[in-house]
Amino acid sequence: CGIVGVTGNDNAVSILLEGLEKLEYRGYDSAGIYVNDLNGKDYLIKRKGRISELEAAVGPDVHGSVGIGHTRWATHGVVSEANAHPQFSEDHRFYLVHNGVIENYKELKSEYLSNTTFASQTDTEVVVQLVDHFVQTEGLSTKQAFLKTLSLLKGSSYAFLLIDSTDPETLYVAKNKSPLLIGLGDGCNVVCSDAPAMLNVTHDFLELHDGEVVTVKPDSVEIEDADHNKVERKPFHVDMDA
Ligand code: GLU
Repeated sequence: CGIVGVTGNDNAVSILLEGLEKLEYRGYDSAGIYVNDLNGKDYLIKRKGRISELEAAVGPDVHGSVGIGHTRWATHGVVSEANAHPQFSEDHRFYLVHNGVIENYKELKSEYLSNTTFASQTDTEVVVQLVDHFVQTEGLSTKQAFLKTLSLLKGSSYAFLLIDSTDPETLYVAKNKSPLLIGLGDGCNVVCSDAPAMLNVTHDFLELHDGEVVTVKPDSVEIEDADHNKVERKPFHVDMDA
């Protein structure tokens, strides 16, 4: 029930884990992180139970400058390591964390993904497999495939954070009826469900509106509305100690 992300900071692992700890109050049954070192190595670690168990599973070799993290409150699929997020596409190219519920995931699965091998029982996995499907079969860019996938999610609630491991510095972000903020750091940017999760990194945040799609890189944040128009938004300052 919480989301964190970071790009452009060599302490990505500790930023993600500390962020998830700060979001523990929201309740959860499992947790996970995906981290990429931008040098061809990436790591996916997920655990049932407490964040402390996830932390214990993250060995000293796990490091990177970009990553996403999640605490799950299961709605579709049992509480298990496979159903914990990040969820990933069949070819392990795309990684996605999601808070919320995809109402029409069964319909989408049978319409587009009858030949896809699934690794979990979650509604979320359908979304990350769809992004991959549209990239593979229609030659769309990652952002175009993400937009197309979002347009198919009828009546759903979501906060999404997506990584394409072939271009890992970029985080793709969208929300609908679920909270999500972008935090503006010094040479890095972060994403979180709630500002306290990232006060160790920044006190300046951008709020997101439903239907917007945001592209977050270490030194830029680009917000587009549902009609693909660029949106300018002033950050707000959070006057609170970490
Ligand atoms: N519906 C998703 C699942 O069951 C996400 C749940 C959540 O918001 O944590 O995996």
